Amino acid sequence: MAAFSFYLSLSVVAWLCIFSVSSLSDHESFLRCFSSHVSPTANLSQLLYLADSPDYSSLLFSSIQNLRFASSETPKPLLIVAPADEFQVQASVICCRSHGLPIRARSGGHDYEGLSYRSEKSSSFVLLDLEKLRSVTVDVEHGVAWVEAGATLGELYYKVAEKWQNTAHKLHEDLLLRVDIVHVNRGDRRVVEAAFKSLFLGHCDGLLQHMGERFPALGVERNDCREMSWIDSAVYAAGYTNGEPAEILVNRELQPKDFNKGKSDYVTEPIPVSGWEAIWARLSEEGATGSMHMDPWGGRMSEISESNIPFPHRKGNLFIILYLSTWRDEGVAASTKHLGWIRSMFRFMTPYVSKRPRAAYLNYRDLELGRNAMAWGERYFKDNFRRLAMVKGEVDPQNFFSNEQSVPPFIAETGERPPINYIL
Ligand SMILES: Cc1cc2nc3c(=O)[nH]c(=O)nc-3n(C[C@H](O)[C@H](O)[C@H](O)COP(=O)(O)OP(=O)(O)OC[C@H]3O[C@@H](n4cnc5c(N)ncnc54)[C@H](O)[C@@H]3O)c2cc1C
Repeated sequence: MAAFSFYLSLSVVAWLCIFSVSSLSDHESFLRCFSSHVSPTANLSQLLYLADSPDYSSLLFSSIQNLRFASSETPKPLLIVAPADEFQVQASVICCRSHGLPIRARSGGHDYEGLSYRSEKSSSFVLLDLEKLRSVTVDVEHGVAWVEAGATLGELYYKVAEKWQNTAHKLHEDLLLRVDIVHVNRGDRRVVEAAFKSLFLGHCDGLLQHMGERFPALGVERNDCREMSWIDSAVYAAGYTNGEPAEILVNRELQPKDFNKGKSDYVTEPIPVSGWEAIWARLSEEGATGSMHMDPWGGRMSEISESNIPFPHRKGNLFIILYLSTWRDEGVAASTKHLGWIRSMFRFMTPYVSKRPRAAYLNYRDLELGRNAMAWGERYFKDNFRRLAMVKGEVDPQNFFSNEQSVPPFIAETGERPPINYIL
């Protein structure tokens, strides 16, 4: 009971703060707080960026990839903090918290719904941009890489590749075969095509033998294979297919920006031929604007138990589907058209995909699964959702670190498990 009252009084203090500070009007006090928590030599002009600072916009937009969230209507942070060390991160959390300002943390900034740099929940928030914290240290001997949160996958791959010749011979030969169903232009016709793309950790001969035995219908020939180093394959998979150097992976400016929307599904039972025919017909319709990308499951994914880490989608899944709409034309009409297509495709797929729950992949963030944890919790995390809520209750009971789809805290009496519908 004593602990409960303590928690209640803490909550009241926190709520009072949140209601009392809704802008950075208390600017001086905020700056004083920062100055008192960072090294006296820290240059605050390279740490804190208010909306009227000349570098605010370029920093904000530097890693926004999705143009849906780059418009003037997208709520912007009151302040961007770009810490250069962990003490500055701590200072950001302490000062934002004491001034009642919610934080959005941004690493690479690739979240499908832009939740790392925008907020629908709070009109006033601070963006904690970790782009300066991006060192990657690879310890080949112990098979460990330390990656700071702000590094991009390209930067990690590049660093790993520097050590690659020491590890390549230890890897198993393996095969990943993905299918992308996309629209392509053939002459003056726009057609739907299924592209089979595979990554094989081995040589061309091994791949031909494997494909001949397991997928003879695809008729893979030597001309279809390109041997390259693993790091070149990462460049290739990123869409640079003309022999561009690996340095392209550490260039943060290159990403082409577009408007996009993604959704995901898991498939646990083979889709019947009639189902594929219906899907194909649907994708071929006039007005079909998106694509479907399917990655196989199995292999190592199936060997790890569902409860081992938060990510639960393991044995029993055949493949994951990413539905993706991307467009370049601006305006409400275009986004209504493309969003409409992906939503109707998602509805159409209901009979063919996993059920109870209809599972989804957190990395393919989808706010349309709902803002209420009841709606998305089990879809992203299955049974691990309860455990995550209990952990959250332990480490962040006041839910300071939150976004539209973050795990809510469950504050349990000893031994109690959260009821399935505890959060509304
Ligand atoms: C076009 C596209 C293709 C993609 N392809 C794939 C794919 O093939 N496979 C795949 O798995 N995923 C894929 N994704 C999803 C992407 O990997 C995830 O969205 C991932 O979260 C991106 O990492 P980030 O560092 O850019 O995250 P951010 O956008 O910076 O952040 C993602 C979330 O984590 C929070 N966050 C960021 N940093 C921290 C931190 N230090 N502490 C706490 N919270 C933090 C953010 O607030 C946000 O909620 C793709 C996304 C897009 C847009």
